[in-house]
Amino acid sequence: MKVKKADGIGFCMGVRRAIDILEKISTERGGVETLGAVVHNQQVLRRLDQIGVRIVNSISEMQGNIVVVSSHGVGPKVVEEIKSRNIEMVDTTCPFVKRAQVAARRLAESDFFTIVFGDVDHPEVKGILSWAGDEGIATQDATTFTDIKNPPRHLGVLSQTTQVPAEFARFTTEIIKRVLIKDSEIRIIDTICHDIRRRQVDSLNLAKESEIVLVVGGQTSANSRHLYELCANITETHLVETASEVKKSWLKGKHQIGVTSGASTDEHTIDDVISRLESMD
Ligand code: SF4
Repeated sequence: MKVKKADGIGFCMGVRRAIDILEKISTERGGVETLGAVVHNQQVLRRLDQIGVRIVNSISEMQGNIVVVSSHGVGPKVVEEIKSRNIEMVDTTCPFVKRAQVAARRLAESDFFTIVFGDVDHPEVKGILSWAGDEGIATQDATTFTDIKNPPRHLGVLSQTTQVPAEFARFTTEIIKRVLIKDSEIRIIDTICHDIRRRQVDSLNLAKESEIVLVVGGQTSANSRHLYELCANITETHLVETASEVKKSWLKGKHQIGVTSGASTDEHTIDDVISRLESMD
């Protein structure tokens, strides 16, 4: 049995950067609070908990006076609330997320209505949307605009950073068909992250040469789920959070095993999965 890892596996730049900052601050200050989970990965969160990183769901839950904003970022109202309470803010918002936030803010300043192509419940999407002011929605369903009587004349379309580029292209094509009317204007801004784009291509290439692919990632991680869906179109694929979830029955008669990971999966967890696969050979 041969186990092959995808290129560019493990933490993405944004998550690596956020965790490095968080570990440093928590060690220096003897603990710190993060606004929401810094990554969607239970193994990483458990390790951070051991060095004093505590998760709060809102500023009002805070006990200390320093808060770390996660790589997913937050909206301007949250930043204001932090400032008004004289809480020190350490911002680990990923530069790619920041780019999407700035695009949303500029659209709002130019009186554009913003559509964010993404998961409406995801913290990154909520944050980007709030930079668009009150003029925006998040959706993955272009038919939302089918029955709209007075479509906005100025419309901006952005994407959650972890979406699949081909799906964003399909969505924007549908939006143009449904909403573009005489004298209207649509601005489409590609805000999909470079790491995610490369990771999807590398994982697809791996899937083409594998009899089975394991995507190592959290069940709540949006980008891990996208990798799972992409690879599952090509070969047998399983999304596993830890090594203990790998089943021997999956490997029966298989010789080429591919392993890839979501952007918030650490190297330890990937190595554990590979060791378990090798122990089952
Ligand atoms: S997946 Fe991309 S946008 Fe998200 S944190 Fe990582 S580098 Fe940043």
